[in-house]
Amino acid sequence: MRRLIPWYFSLLVLAAVIWQFGCQKQVRQPTRPPGFDQERAYSLLQEICSIGPRNHGSETKLKAEKWIQEKLREAGAEVSVHEFTYASRDSGVAESFRNITGHIRPAEKRRVMVGTHYDTRSWADRDPHKELRSIPIVGANDGASGVAVMLEMARAWKYDPPPVGIDLIFFDGEEFGKEGRLEDYLAGSKAFVRDHPEFKPEWGVVLDMVGDSNLRIGKERSSAARACKAVRKIWGAAERVGSTAFVDGFQRHIYDDQSAFIARGIPVALVIDYEYPWYHTTEDLPDKCSAESLGQVGRTIMEAIYSS
Ligand SMILES: [Zn+2]
Repeated sequence: MRRLIPWYFSLLVLAAVIWQFGCQKQVRQPTRPPGFDQERAYSLLQEICSIGPRNHGSETKLKAEKWIQEKLREAGAEVSVHEFTYASRDSGVAESFRNITGHIRPAEKRRVMVGTHYDTRSWADRDPHKELRSIPIVGANDGASGVAVMLEMARAWKYDPPPVGIDLIFFDGEEFGKEGRLEDYLAGSKAFVRDHPEFKPEWGVVLDMVGDSNLRIGKERSSAARACKAVRKIWGAAERVGSTAFVDGFQRHIYDDQSAFIARGIPVALVIDYEYPWYHTTEDLPDKCSAESLGQVGRTIMEAIYSS
């Protein structure tokens, strides 16, 4: 037994050296997210809305697509465009759509996905004024709010990159469905999942309608049930950053861009405040949104990513 003591001792020393080396390596990883500038996020929301509605087939949507790509490149993200076609049940005619992704730290194996839809509805079908119901919507909250949060996160990460790789996905075709025709909604996320079987982030989040100046986000049912890892991270992060917008209750099941990922077994949570009086109306404009709400969501999601 006596002869074993020095042998054990040298093993202990070796373990300590390895541990220290490991720790030193970890120190180089960023541990705190860089600042999220909520005023800048709000200006981004105003800027994309000033281009016009992003309804399918419009010139203004094409302009917005270019603008998103430009902002991603300015932030140093690698941009890829996923083109796909979709034919609605009514027309049967295949039409072209584009999902846009900004890859941050593209070579990193560990990845987290953040998604939103950037398209807007071609018809303000919930507008209180009947004569306005055929008009496409600007979608300040429903579309632009998620875009603004994600582009501001990309900018913040330009010189202070996150600890994991991030895929910021801007989905098209989310709003393609007509009321009562559920299968024509979410064309972008469904096509993305179908065409990228290799895409397996550790977890993810979809942001939709996160700009309402009166923001209150409960846990969406399907996310809480099937993406509990992501929900835990996000709501835990909200508490740490002192966000009052994320509340501890549940809200009903909402079929959105997280659904195709959840069906594939990828834990992607939906962050949404569905209670919005201007939902699918011509009044969904920037004045109904606030920098503070975008800031709370941006800071929470960044914090959650740093606990990955
Ligand atoms: Zn919508």
